[in-house]
Amino acid sequence: MNLDGRRIRMVMELRRLGVTDPRVLGAMERCPREDFLSSAWIDQAYDDRPLPIGHEQTISQPSIVGHMLQALDLHPNHRVLEIGVGSGYQTALLSSLSRAVYGIERIKILLDNAEKRLLDLGVRNAFLRWSDGGLGWPEAAPYDRIIAAATADDLPGALADQLKPGGIIVLPIKEAGGDQNIWRVSRHENGFRTESVCKAPFVPLLSGVVSSEYREGA
Ligand code: SAH
Repeated sequence: MNLDGRRIRMVMELRRLGVTDPRVLGAMERCPREDFLSSAWIDQAYDDRPLPIGHEQTISQPSIVGHMLQALDLHPNHRVLEIGVGSGYQTALLSSLSRAVYGIERIKILLDNAEKRLLDLGVRNAFLRWSDGGLGWPEAAPYDRIIAAATADDLPGALADQLKPGGIIVLPIKEAGGDQNIWRVSRHENGFRTESVCKAPFVPLLSGVVSSEYREGA
């Protein structure tokens, strides 16, 4: 089966796994995941699993991305902050579901590669920054939605501060005992409400940045 056929089959599988939002499924059906992988992994682009992108990082698993985007409940006028751009795959999906995406990545080389891929795909509403995502992107705040693709010990205060009232954050958080859960945190007039989305294995949210000279695990 060619890659287009495999992409359609992946979307059918995501629906079976509970990703039912037609906007999310449509975006995933249009986005070529193979374009965010090195040639060694293209054959597996539509398997429902994370794959290596170098520097000990992975492109996120499609069903997890689907569940997180669905929990984010995006509208076309939203401005979104994304922590952990990685390959840029989820950035591309966010850009097609919202007005503007502000994406942060701490590993410079991954950010540069993602930027090239997004430009090649014609994405014009994604703004990328090499920084520690735990600090958010205060100059462009507040955001309607925030999504993180790396596991924090707790909701970083800077991210909570940069969310609009009525806004939603979706992020993985490490639980006591080592489990990780994805949480949906909504901001209300008198505080935050949290709901569990699903379980998920993610790489950790690390502080500080990594420059382009650094090649560990590349
Ligand atoms: N959604 C991405 C996921 C990449 S994995 C994709 O599908 O390709 C998670 C990414 O988060 C990694 O690239 C890692 O470098 C990045 N990351 C971890 N901690 C971070 C932080 N504090 N600030 C910004 N990026 C971070």
